[in-house]
Amino acid sequence: MQQGWTVLGLLRWLTDYFGDKGISAARHDAECLLGAALAKDRVGLYLCYDQPLQADELDRIRPLVKRRAAREPLQYILGETEFWSLPLQVSPAVLIPRADTEVLVEEALARLQEQPGPVLDIGTGSGAIAIAVAHASGQEVEALDVSEAALELARANVARNHLTERVRLRRGDLYRLDGGPYRLLLANPPYIARIELDGLMPEVAAHEPRLALDGGPDGLDAYRALAAQAPQRLVAGGWLLLEVGDGQAEAVAALLAAAGLNRIYQRRDYGGLVRVVGGCRS
Ligand code: GLN
Repeated sequence: MQQGWTVLGLLRWLTDYFGDKGISAARHDAECLLGAALAKDRVGLYLCYDQPLQADELDRIRPLVKRRAAREPLQYILGETEFWSLPLQVSPAVLIPRADTEVLVEEALARLQEQPGPVLDIGTGSGAIAIAVAHASGQEVEALDVSEAALELARANVARNHLTERVRLRRGDLYRLDGGPYRLLLANPPYIARIELDGLMPEVAAHEPRLALDGGPDGLDAYRALAAQAPQRLVAGGWLLLEVGDGQAEAVAALLAAAGLNRIYQRRDYGGLVRVVGGCRS
């Protein structure tokens, strides 16, 4: 990156460069990083395509490009993302919230519409699920995480979304649940089989927290623990709603059934994969 670049010229160069590095949404990521360095949104960037970049601007862009080329996730570089159209701060202390997880929020809202009641988000990470449910339902939500660093970030996100009155964060372990009984238990638990962790794309394998990903030898450790504890933490008629990984739905449904939950159902995401498995305490 020498001098003499226009915004558009650099954007095109970066798109090729990121593409060569194996980054799939290369143009999008180039636009986001350039936008961040120049403090412009996408439209603002478009309006100055022909503008030559100054030396100080290139100095700001260069380190961001280097990090992304090394396959650091875009969201960690920007320090933020969106979930349920709400702004969330992210750091390597937490999993980057995925749009797929929004179907878990939809299911939670549907169950709360049938009957409101206490909600617990287990392993809240950035606070994504708790914040979205509290925001959309107007209900109070309790959220726990075992990581202090995650809780600190979640706290900032709750404040940023003006939900300090509605979201209660506390330290807690999904393997030793306490409190309740709840109307809803929600979790997007760690669900990658340990042996598959290193084979994931570098953004995930080298940068996202292992604690948020590692589901034990077969990826199902957290589901076993949650299924076993759910009956004693749910009110009668309360639901355990779990995000599941690709191909895990049947195994998780069987765990919920074995724990004595019923009305077990599966919900697909917008890509057609089963994303949520739910079960009810009768
Ligand atoms: N609940 C958070 C999310 O869905 C974090 C989940 C996790 O760390 N496994 O984004």
